[in-house]
Amino acid sequence: MFCNNCGKEINSDSVFCGSCGNQLISNAQPSVQPRVQIESSGAGLAIFLSILFGITALFFLPPLFGGLGVFFGFKVKQKGNEGLGIALMVVNGACLLIGMFLGVLSFSLL
Ligand SMILES: [Zn+2]
Repeated sequence: MFCNNCGKEINSDSVFCGSCGNQLISNAQPSVQPRVQIESSGAGLAIFLSILFGITALFFLPPLFGGLGVFFGFKVKQKGNEGLGIALMVVNGACLLIGMFLGVLSFSLL
C-alpha cells in the first residue's frame, strides 16, 4: 500500500509511514473505539451510583450505603479512572464516618 500523505510505498501491516511519520488508517483502529465508549459509560454509571450512595450514607444507614459508595468507587477505579475512583472511595469512607457520627449524635440528643 501507499502512504496517503506523501505517497511512498509502505508495508501494509505498518501503523506509521516510515518516510513522513503519517499515521495510517488501519482496520484495527475502529474496532477499539466502541469498546472504550462502553467502558467510559459504565464508569459514568458507577460514578453516579458512588456519589448517590455517598450522599444517602450521610442520612440513612451509613454502614450500608457508605460501603456501597466505597464499592462503586472501587468499580470506577477498576474501569480506568484511578484518581477519581480513589477520591470517591475516600469521600464515601468519610460520608460513612460522618453519617455514623450524625446518627450517634442525633440518638444521644433524643
Ligand atoms: Zn508518508
